[in-house]
Amino acid sequence: MTNEMPKRLPTVKHNGEKYFIDWRLQEFRPVDRPFESIPFDSELGRKIDEMPEPRTDANPIENNVTVTCSSCGKLLFVGSENEARHLAIYCEDCLR
Ligand SMILES: [Zn+2]
Repeated sequence: MTNEMPKRLPTVKHNGEKYFIDWRLQEFRPVDRPFESIPFDSELGRKIDEMPEPRTDANPIENNVTVTCSSCGKLLFVGSENEARHLAIYCEDCLR
């Protein structure tokens, strides 16, 4: 069975540098220096891996409010104040 090398590996950006993500070898490789390998389980590898995903919440919540149940303390809602106003928030555990 022959395994062809994938022509294009996914890349990740860290500190302005692009790295290939090689799942087969479990390592990152700088796009500019492909012979340099950075194992996932190395100090730098873990740092690269910690980079946040490019997708972020489209609407960052500015006025974050939390609503907790006054009797059991369960967290019922996290979101914007505006959102909270339009929702009927009740505790399913305490409601009978
Ligand atoms: Zn409750």
